[in-house]
Amino acid sequence: MNKKTLCIATRNLHKVQEMTTVLSPFWEVKSSADYHEMDGSDEIAETGDTFLANATLKAVATSQLISDYALADDSGLEIDALDGAPGVFSARYGGIPSSTERNNAKLLEELKRVGALTPEQRGARFRCVLVLAKGGEVLETFDGACEGAITLEPKGTNGFGYDPLFVPRTYTRTFGQLLEKTKTNLSHRGRALKKFVDWCKENPLE
Ligand code: IMP
Repeated sequence: MNKKTLCIATRNLHKVQEMTTVLSPFWEVKSSADYHEMDGSDEIAETGDTFLANATLKAVATSQLISDYALADDSGLEIDALDGAPGVFSARYGGIPSSTERNNAKLLEELKRVGALTPEQRGARFRCVLVLAKGGEVLETFDGACEGAITLEPKGTNGFGYDPLFVPRTYTRTFGQLLEKTKTNLSHRGRALKKFVDWCKENPLE
């Protein structure tokens, strides 16, 4: 099969790794860092107030700069006890410049502040929206979610971001403790990617 080239429109190497593992059997996978056209475009402003709006901004802007297909991910964590925060602010919850340590520390502090101490009170979900674009046009969107709960302290060193704090439903270990393959099978991003792969099988691209 002659594989088409797909640019994963991100500079987050963890996302690139997770997505490449799933997509490489079907696509020639690259990421923003592989395109000189993308030099200096690190900061595609995420000014939308939904994951869909931000993923669309990233996919469209990237696909205007390159000739290949662009697939952008916008994702984040929603905590029930915090009325859905940090949501689209997940990357910069602890302030700018964004820092995983500060984000995770703030999340634990906020849950303590509102008195959410049991797993039932610490319910949360990761969400992911993927947008496929070419030549500045959106071709399709895909979403995925993963329900779970926030731990009382970080556990595990795998993955990235909030992974050491998130235990997926029916599991006892955090994404930070689970293998990447296990995470991808049940994660928000893995579920959205599966929809993307299924869609590509039914809609062969030119
Ligand atoms: P984005 O790059 O604007 O989509 O930022 C997403 C942010 O949400 C990341 O910086 C992480 O803080 C968080 N996030 C999204 N997906 C995951 C995941 O799979 N594991 C842990 N944190 C994630």
